[in-house]
Amino acid sequence: MASVAGALRRWALRRARSGATRSNLPWSFLSTSTTGAGNDAVSEQIGQGASGGEKAKTSAGSIPPPIRVSLTDSAGRGVFASRAIGAGDLIHTASPVVAHPLPSLLSKVCYYCLRRSSGDTSVLSDSSCSSARYFCSDECKEKSKGFLEIESTSSWSAYDTHCKERGLKYPFLVKRLACMVVAGTVSADTLDILQPASLHPDMLPEMEAEYELLKLAFVKADPEEALISFLTKQWFLGVMARIRINAFRVETVGGSYEDLLDLASSSVVADSAVGNAVYILPSFYNHDCDPNAHILWIDNMDAKLKVLRDIEPGEELRICYIDASMDWEARQSLLYHGFGFQCRCSRCLSGD
Ligand SMILES: [Zn+2]
Ligand SMILES: [Zn+2]
Repeated sequence: MASVAGALRRWALRRARSGATRSNLPWSFLSTSTTGAGNDAVSEQIGQGASGGEKAKTSAGSIPPPIRVSLTDSAGRGVFASRAIGAGDLIHTASPVVAHPLPSLLSKVCYYCLRRSSGDTSVLSDSSCSSARYFCSDECKEKSKGFLEIESTSSWSAYDTHCKERGLKYPFLVKRLACMVVAGTVSADTLDILQPASLHPDMLPEMEAEYELLKLAFVKADPEEALISFLTKQWFLGVMARIRINAFRVETVGGSYEDLLDLASSSVVADSAVGNAVYILPSFYNHDCDPNAHILWIDNMDAKLKVLRDIEPGEELRICYIDASMDWEARQSLLYHGFGFQCRCSRCLSGD
């Protein structure tokens, strides 16, 4: 089953190596104990308490997911099973805080939910903007209203061109998040709970240029100053640092989970990427090169977390951040340079 996770290449990043403490986590479900009678209550809070745009629910809807978020010995926060979970079971689903289609797919992927167009994209395309955007439904169009109204007040050509020319995708997430903050649909500190990457000084001039272009786009639209007071360089860099190691590359597989298994075994999932998205709860899962859980997307941005084998109560649930089929050297290099840590999972320790 690990090869399935491997075929579902996802490029998310690292979080919570250190520094996560009870006091800086607003969610009350964080528990530092691994056993105890409080776990049911903790789990219940996971089901109800995933706030800030995050929805965590099981397929049954009201039953809390069988997990709790606790501190690990060496890897910051982690997600643990609060009861036994059977192989293949859904742990929970999660909606992103912010998502954005790949800039090259704006006419083919829903601007809100990242669902692929089934063909006729003209029906719901938003003709009022210079670049045609596709919406899969009136519902998605309606849900986009907040950030879209703000986005439409500014000219983004300089910012978009700058990012497209450099093949950058994360600034599009920052732009959308900024529009959401101005629209009042999320708060400016909504990603603060996530672990930031440490930004190399070499990256700063590029990011500062992006920040200036973002700020300029908003300032030109002449909004009330108070509405964009959050938009400081510090805010931009803080958001970029979190997106860099927490954004998931969303690859939808379409159809059912069974189709997915077929696809994985025939390696046909290659160009299934539709966009990028940032989640809260899925970002708390630590990495393992031989994971016992994985994240997948069926037809839109809503992520499904599933276990790959039978899980004991109290066991840590880990997903693979990279292509698990790579060899030891490639995995170590990618995890170190992309995610900032040396993997010491049991597979890596065994030299596999
Ligand atoms: Zn949609
Ligand atoms: Zn490893």
